[in-house]
Amino acid sequence: MTDGPTYGFDTLQIHAGARPDPATGARQVPIYQTTAYVFRDADHAAALFNLQEVGYIYSRLTNPTVAALQERIATLEGGVGAVCCSSGHAAQIMALFPLMGPGMNVVASSRLYGGTVTQFSQTIKRFGWSATFVDFDDHEAVKAAIDDNTRAVFCEAIANPGGHITDLDAISAISDAAGVPLIVDNTSATPYLCRPIEHGATLVVHSTTKYLTGNGTVTGGCVVDSGKFDWAANDKFPSLSQPEPAYHGLKFAETFGPLAFTFHGIAIGLRDLGMTMNPQAAHYTLMGIETLSLRMDRHVENAMKIAKWLEDDPRTDYVTYAGLDSSPYAKLVPKICPKGAGALFTVAVKGGYDACVKLVDSLEIFSHVANLGDTRSLIIHSASTTHRQLTAEQQEAAGAGPGIVRLSIGIEDADDLIADLDQALAKATA
Ligand SMILES: *Cc1c(COP(=O)(O)O)cnc(C)c1O
Repeated sequence: MTDGPTYGFDTLQIHAGARPDPATGARQVPIYQTTAYVFRDADHAAALFNLQEVGYIYSRLTNPTVAALQERIATLEGGVGAVCCSSGHAAQIMALFPLMGPGMNVVASSRLYGGTVTQFSQTIKRFGWSATFVDFDDHEAVKAAIDDNTRAVFCEAIANPGGHITDLDAISAISDAAGVPLIVDNTSATPYLCRPIEHGATLVVHSTTKYLTGNGTVTGGCVVDSGKFDWAANDKFPSLSQPEPAYHGLKFAETFGPLAFTFHGIAIGLRDLGMTMNPQAAHYTLMGIETLSLRMDRHVENAMKIAKWLEDDPRTDYVTYAGLDSSPYAKLVPKICPKGAGALFTVAVKGGYDACVKLVDSLEIFSHVANLGDTRSLIIHSASTTHRQLTAEQQEAAGAGPGIVRLSIGIEDADDLIADLDQALAKATA
């Protein structure tokens, strides 16, 4: 099929990027389990290596199964191109790499996946990069945190671990005014619930490990480019605007226009950093995405039922689900994620740290794992696991204090999940 804006989401999640295999007619996207591709002749090989012709050279850079997934995710997000990589964390480095340099900083939300807080506050320092964390509800603080060395603004659409919603329109107005790209991690929302590019995002990153694959089988990541940022407007982004010595002085922005970031991601990012997605992982994720909208509708329906039940239960102090009328983020739902506030939220359990640990150990359907976005319901006590490396202040700022558990609601029967929580809460608060 030809992909076009006339097709709806449910059609595109199955067909975008996929066409019957030209060699065999295979209807499902084949797993191209190959490392390299035969050149037609020496001229063809030279043209590919010069980026004068687009084609397959070596699977560290491009692979047809991965390419189908890239096109599908880019289409669902409304971007011009996408680069898949080995994990969500790899996607974050791939997104920042062309923008940053020694001495440069990213202004990031304090509400992020725990691993991202660690990656940004510790590991990126080894590259000479730094992150400034601010509360993204405080728009003046975001504005004030951007300085001459800021090369990106970073947040999650539906933010970990509390399921808080970021006002992407307000944040993109700030990043636009500063001439800095906005990167939105859309992992918890997925393009079915939220399309960050429509709210001004420059780049969208995903951990495809989560809802896009949907069944907890493979890790993967993706960087989607809106194609809307003018990298050559000033000298802030030399990797994209200035001559690239590794390609005979080619300028990505000039040569590839709106696809500059995507081509740079493949030709420099994957080629030299090597954080490649393998074709098996791309296959599982392509299969998962086919049912994304159906799963997300059920995730949201279940999350709403369970969040309401927990909120009314005397054994809990509060529930952070933005779908609840009591949430300060409820007013952002129709604007940012009109089909629902996702299925990720935290619950404060009466009895603090000890009760949380007992709750996690007493559940039978919910699994205690460091993952989210699975068909299965999952729970984690963030303070003793994913957010363990954070200081007490960072844990509180991230909404992952000691008396809080994070739930990722699956697509099982909601009544069974409620019964499971009921028996476990009884043990935890006895
Ligand atoms: C899981 C996750 C990541 C990291 O992705 P990996 O695939 O585990 O590397 C980043 N952001 C969010 C919101 C996540 O949930």
